[in-house]
Amino acid sequence: MKYVVLIGDGMADYPLEELNNKTPLQAANKPNMDEVARGGVNGLLETVPHGMEPGSDVANLAIMGYDPEKYYTGRGPLEASSMGVSLDKNDVAFRCNFITNEEGILADFNAGHISTQESTELIHELNNSFGDYGTFYPGVSYRNLFVYSKKESSNLKTTPPHDIVGEPILDHLSMPTDDENAVIINKIMKESQKILLNHEINHKRIKNGKKAANMIWLWGQGKKPQMDSFLKNYGLQGATITGVDLIKGIGVNLGLDNINVPGATGYFDTDYKAKGKYALEALENHDIVFVHVESPDEAGHAGDIKEKIKGIEEIDSKILGPLLDHLPSFDQYKLTLLPDHATPIAVKTHTMDPVPYAVYSPGLDADEVQKYDEFDAKNGILGMGKAHNLINKLINGF
Ligand SMILES: [Zn+2]
Repeated sequence: MKYVVLIGDGMADYPLEELNNKTPLQAANKPNMDEVARGGVNGLLETVPHGMEPGSDVANLAIMGYDPEKYYTGRGPLEASSMGVSLDKNDVAFRCNFITNEEGILADFNAGHISTQESTELIHELNNSFGDYGTFYPGVSYRNLFVYSKKESSNLKTTPPHDIVGEPILDHLSMPTDDENAVIINKIMKESQKILLNHEINHKRIKNGKKAANMIWLWGQGKKPQMDSFLKNYGLQGATITGVDLIKGIGVNLGLDNINVPGATGYFDTDYKAKGKYALEALENHDIVFVHVESPDEAGHAGDIKEKIKGIEEIDSKILGPLLDHLPSFDQYKLTLLPDHATPIAVKTHTMDPVPYAVYSPGLDADEVQKYDEFDAKNGILGMGKAHNLINKLINGF
């Protein structure tokens, strides 16, 4: 048996007036997704445990079969794994975003999607200034890493920058403000402004009408998680396909092979076709492949209805279509389609809403559901489930 889990990040949404009260999934032209729903079984899945933040890290960890309440320690350490950065016992890994600070307001959580080349150069600059506190590591675009090795971090609270776009920066610094570690983290974030604003890269960006990467934002901190491998837990050889370090990092922690796909960017311009092709290739020597596509989430954060629909349609025609065409060459297979969480256009951030999921396998008795979307899935035979049980159920039956 071969398994494919196709994850359209943030694909689920709310009905929009602009779409005649349809969701982007309902408005999109997605014959292959509908075929999966029509020929398969459907339901809703809680991907984020109550009381936890609806981050892609928590949700994808759950989808990969690990209860976030037991295994999640933070986003930073997962990203560290993906970058090959190993953490010592006392290290605390933070996600380090480049952001745009406009007169004290967090104007952009990704500094105009700064290029990796530019961000890498800026990261080296930060190491020259803040080396006493830890080490910065360059990642992809605005997504970088800081490993804080000065002190054990206790109950530090930080805020994801994509949740506070348009809000005053000073209202959202690390808490509690009298905590020794929060003081240091806030100091690094504030002082990064001087270094970055004076850097030639930002002079050029401003001159060219681009957003300045004039501050860093440290968040998502945590220590190294302790988890058994996917192979040990489920007896399956697995692989991940994704353009996002965070998802790679979860896979690395679980012992999944990350398949590097040329042209997978984690953004609107990702090479969808290549992802489908590499997924099929990966199935030759793996039992399960998680194919993660970031673009609908980015469109949700940007509040861009057109891009969101386009992302869904690209996944449908360029990834899911070819998968459905070629999967029958394997003896038996099960394909699961789902988002990790909703990123509704109206709120521009992730929500806790259960997500629609569809499982398709030749010979499986289909339920009544005809279309793949947030509302039709409610009528599916699978009812409401929890994401961290999904892999078990795919293997052992629903
Ligand atoms: Zn996500």
